[in-house]
Amino acid sequence: MAVIGWIGLGNMGGSMSANLAKSGHDVRGFDLNPAAVAAAEAGGVKPAQSIADAVNGADVVFTMLPKGEHAKAVYLGGDGVLAHADSRTLLVDSSTIDVAAAQELHDAAAAAGFRFVDAPVSGGMSGAQAGTLTFMVGGEEGAVADATGYIGPMASNIIPTGAATTGQAAKICNNLMLFINLAATAEGAVLADRLGLDKQVFWDIASVSSGDSWALRTWYPVPGVVSTSAADNDFAPTFTTELANKDIGLAISAAEDTGTPLEIGRHVQQLFQRLVDAGQSGKDCSMIIKLADGSLDS
Ligand code: NAD
Repeated sequence: MAVIGWIGLGNMGGSMSANLAKSGHDVRGFDLNPAAVAAAEAGGVKPAQSIADAVNGADVVFTMLPKGEHAKAVYLGGDGVLAHADSRTLLVDSSTIDVAAAQELHDAAAAAGFRFVDAPVSGGMSGAQAGTLTFMVGGEEGAVADATGYIGPMASNIIPTGAATTGQAAKICNNLMLFINLAATAEGAVLADRLGLDKQVFWDIASVSSGDSWALRTWYPVPGVVSTSAADNDFAPTFTTELANKDIGLAISAAEDTGTPLEIGRHVQQLFQRLVDAGQSGKDCSMIIKLADGSLDS
């Protein structure tokens, strides 16, 4: 069994690290938020007092942080991972961050003698809880193989993507599609309701028809249809609007770098921006249905 350091115990990291602990690993978790640490402790993770405490003696360190700026602070800061871990420790960043920040982390880790992979995930909070995430893992082949050995209890699919930062590239494109699908699902759900369709009947049809998507099956934004939907819980966040807006913003930046129009993605980003501007950044991103039905603007 391995010693695992885990930094970032939020909606995703809390359940992911608990699954590693349940599989018998010695997991030491750190988060700036004491409530997140307490929740992880209930899942079998040993609380750490600092990044140094979490990474001390670890075979592998995982990070699951909101944005590139957080990942850079945690790895590169004076009290961070590179300053305190032993260089034999394998480093795995599962946050969704921009490609430039991921490259910076790869470069800094290599310069300090560490092996580092970018390993973002898909599958949502329900997939994190169930241990059925998809990991997309970029980096040097041997490091990717070693990371795969630790990821098993958290994942149904572990897919090597190629060289450094390709995991993030795959994740950014995947989430562009996810958030466009979520916006489309919200519009379909609202129109179906206004045409007099029963919510369950319409979902039963769409989920086996050409309107199907992961967003429809997992995040259907109408209460009482899908048990994993935040709509059943007053839109308490499983994936915040702020992070959704961040992800689609990453796609737009990547599109600008590559001369790609991204017309639909740009429009959907404006919808998430409207939610943020309306003070909904901490709510679940499936709140986008409140724009589709006009209730947030009225
Ligand atoms: P979250 O906000 O729930 O959790 C992030 C945690 O990081 C918080 O608990 C925060 O306190 C902690 N943190 C921030 N800075 C820190 C620091 N310097 N030191 C220690 N802890 C720190 O976010 P989440 O939903 O768990 O998402 C994490 C990452 O995973 C994001 O990049 C997100 O885009 C990605 N992601 C989320 C989902 C989802 O469904 N929620 C799915 C796939 C990927």
